[in-house]
Amino acid sequence: SHVLKIENLHVSVGDKPILRGVNLTINHGETHALMGPNGSGKSTLGLAIMGHPGYEVTEGSITLDGQDVLEMEPDRRARAGLFMAFQRPMAIPGVKMADFLRHATTNVRNPDRKEGEELIPMREFRKELKEKMAHLRMDVEFARRYVNDGFSGGEMKRAEILQLAMLQPKFAILDETDSGLDADAVRLASESIADIGREKMGLLIITHHDKLLVHNPPEYTHVMLGGKLVETGGKELAEELHESGYDRIRQAYPDAE
Ligand code: ADP
Ligand code: MG
Ligand code: MG
Repeated sequence: SHVLKIENLHVSVGDKPILRGVNLTINHGETHALMGPNGSGKSTLGLAIMGHPGYEVTEGSITLDGQDVLEMEPDRRARAGLFMAFQRPMAIPGVKMADFLRHATTNVRNPDRKEGEELIPMREFRKELKEKMAHLRMDVEFARRYVNDGFSGGEMKRAEILQLAMLQPKFAILDETDSGLDADAVRLASESIADIGREKMGLLIITHHDKLLVHNPPEYTHVMLGGKLVETGGKELAEELHESGYDRIRQAYPDAE
């Protein structure tokens, strides 16, 4: 079974220290919710895991099944089975979703594939894509659109879910902050994640929507404050914070921010 382990992680952006010693272990099959006030460092954690340039790890370690993730280029991390859905994903005009997915899926299944080497055979890929889209109640036409080009918030969400279903990453980070989704889109996303089978991944869900957690109750909820995880609980902690906000947390950890 797979394990993503983050130990004493310190991350700076520019010269500014943002994460100040994060410890987090996610086992395959577990769902973790990550909460915390705006600016506490939640997105920074996800971006550092994925190797986003500009997020400099100054101390600590990240390992995937014992392998040093920090030594891997971002592309290698994706091939190793790490996935993050971005809040504002980049549009790739001229590249259809289906072609993008065929490349990405091939690379995850054959991590040592070099550019120009064979892709998953078209027939096989099309069949799988069609099945997955039907299962997610998505119109196949959607895969013919250009990646994120003029997508609405709901469509970006659907594209993200489709990537999850096709790539079947070992660990997925879903960053939902500020995503401006309406209630229907959140419910659809929530149900789709449950459909894909969250038990087949390790999930880190960064969310302010308690709806997203309804179909995906987290085994663990972590609260970030001032670049540290100050508290960990079960799903009742997520429920408390959704209901009552962060006043209690701020009072309990006055030195964290
Ligand atoms: P959260 O996701 O919890 O809202 P972030 O990780 O986005 O928090 O941000 C944490 C802190 O790091 C904030 O003070 C933010 O301004 C800063 N920060 C994050 N990314 C950048 C960046 N690319 N450039 C400058 N500051 C950044
Ligand atoms: Mg933010
Ligand atoms: Mg954020």
